[in-house]
Amino acid sequence: MNCTRGEVSRLRLPQDLETLRWDELDFLGWVDPRAPLQCYLVVPMAADELVGVQLRRNAGGDGPTRARMCSLCLTTHPGTGVSLMVAPRAGRSGRDGNSVGVDVCAELDCSSYVRGVIPPPALSRVHETLTVEQRIARLQRNVQAFVRRL
Ligand SMILES: [Zn+2]
Repeated sequence: MNCTRGEVSRLRLPQDLETLRWDELDFLGWVDPRAPLQCYLVVPMAADELVGVQLRRNAGGDGPTRARMCSLCLTTHPGTGVSLMVAPRAGRSGRDGNSVGVDVCAELDCSSYVRGVIPPPALSRVHETLTVEQRIARLQRNVQAFVRRL
């Protein structure tokens, strides 16, 4: 949605596409294997609509120790576990330099955190009263809302 044709032709797909557990993903997110600041999200917006966006990871450290919360899955990570990622807006607005930033799990594995497939960092074990299904629904809402802002 926010890439030029040239950027699309240069992007590299994740290396583990064939072994991914698709039924456990709310979106496909990956870091470009040869350009670690370049990230991509493919998000189901409706039953028959997938939208892909590119993001750039903020290279400058935000301080090594401050804990931050992913704004998509609400997992809190220490240090560099959460990255500020910035996505150019789609179309003319993006070409004019407008972008939207989001704090997100650095490896884009929010789907695994909400399902408990990856245990959260110890410091983030705040008591959540939501069920796994509710946390999945919240993640899907948050990632779709982010894409709509672009
Ligand atoms: Zn997350």
